[in-house]
Amino acid sequence: MASNVHVLMIPLMCPGHLIPMVDMAKLMAQQSATVTVVITPRNAARFGAVLHRAVASGHPIRILQLQFPASEYGLPEGCENVDDLPSFKLTKNFFDATAKLQEPLEKVFNDLKPKPSCMISDKHLTWTEDVARKFEIPWVIFDGMSCFTQLATHNLCVSKVHERVGDFDPFLLPGLPDNITMTKSQLPGLFNPGKSAEAKVIKTVREKIRAAETGAYGVVINSFEELERRYIDEYRKVKQKVWCIGPFSQSNKNDLDKAQRGSNDSIITSHECITWLDSQEPGSVVYACLGSLTRLTPPQFIELALGLEESESPFILVVKGGSRTEEIEKWLVEDGFEMRVKGRGVLIRGWAPQVLILSHPSLGAFLTHCGWNSTIEGICAGVPMITWPQFAEQFFNERLVLEVVGTGVGVGAESVMPLVEEDAAGMQVKREDVCKAVKMVMDEGIEGEERRKKAKYFREMAEKALEEEGSSQVNIKLFIEDIMLHINKDMADKL
Ligand code: UDP
Repeated sequence: MASNVHVLMIPLMCPGHLIPMVDMAKLMAQQSATVTVVITPRNAARFGAVLHRAVASGHPIRILQLQFPASEYGLPEGCENVDDLPSFKLTKNFFDATAKLQEPLEKVFNDLKPKPSCMISDKHLTWTEDVARKFEIPWVIFDGMSCFTQLATHNLCVSKVHERVGDFDPFLLPGLPDNITMTKSQLPGLFNPGKSAEAKVIKTVREKIRAAETGAYGVVINSFEELERRYIDEYRKVKQKVWCIGPFSQSNKNDLDKAQRGSNDSIITSHECITWLDSQEPGSVVYACLGSLTRLTPPQFIELALGLEESESPFILVVKGGSRTEEIEKWLVEDGFEMRVKGRGVLIRGWAPQVLILSHPSLGAFLTHCGWNSTIEGICAGVPMITWPQFAEQFFNERLVLEVVGTGVGVGAESVMPLVEEDAAGMQVKREDVCKAVKMVMDEGIEGEERRKKAKYFREMAEKALEEEGSSQVNIKLFIEDIMLHINKDMADKL
């Protein structure tokens, strides 16, 4: 049934936020909602191929490009995405520049036809709430996190139990369906802001975001009922309108979409990677990627690389050095690492076609930083995970994988790492920790088998969720119906 709903989507221009929104646009458009995605020119060029293919295949998706005022905010020309930032010290500048999109958006809003029925915007873009209010449409937020995280965050905000414990004292996360213990040092920045000057500025931004999000009309989540049902049910007691409509990565059905997800340029890497994966035994390869933003310190990178080498499993290691690239490359040359592991280990520098790699039958495990997208993509891949959380809510995601889903082994990370390179020093995970976790996950004994069985089960559930009448497909329809009812009621009230 064609719907009259027109969704205006405003992503945060950061890979872990923009990529899932592009996927979500496709999923909504498949259910006949018209979707307009607001994006800047560089991001349109980087992420557009997948959207253009969806448009060409008849999906009602439009792209609205707005110029990004990078240089006005001290950002390099062409820097339009958080992973383009020369230093994460510039995050505040990036957010300020993004907020400047409000004015041009408001100028063109009335030209959008039909008038948008609702806005789905990234919760970090608090200014979008003003736009929604001004044009009298519901402001729905996309949070990019699980219901486990939503619930744990809400309960911590209410109970403030973390304020009464020492940094490394384990305490029970309050009000969760399972008994889950963490330490304050593992909590996201909202509860554990760090001590640098930038951290203090970002803390204020985070508090503003938190205050705004509680007033949103509803929230769409990249998750599915079968994955974390008890957490979803509990969260719905806190926030009534919660639509779990993922896993979003499942919207990429063909290899070209999987290869170009997140970067139009990853086709050549994809080809080389797949050729190598084809030559490996089924279920044997460890894929190690710590997301789009993590920049390991050189000593920490070395431990990861050597841990993978010692594990004796074939592996793919994604190298993202940022300002540390030179130092990491120097070590790679001096140590002879690449030569030594040739044939058994592949390094990808820059952007990896993650979802394509994860869907390959040779894959045996995913070593991940537990960003929520990577976590749910690992679940869709049906392989066990080696968990190494770094920052933000990633330790929550680790707990979900280890203790609720039961498909992972942790490397033993103990506290969040600062994202700003200058604030992070040394290393906290040793090569033997990495090697041990890889060996445990790849083990063919009972525990390893049990993890693999669970991983396969959740992969099947993830596939079903987006099939016709699957839970997430039903939730997308419920979302569209809700917005239609809202429009009709609004019109009736105005008569
Ligand atoms: N990603 C990718 N290739 C890379 C790095 C990341 O395709 O080399 C994708 C990954 O599949 C995921 C997103 O970028 O969809 C990263 O989001 P996540 O929440 O996992 O972590 P973040 O990058 O936000 O820390």
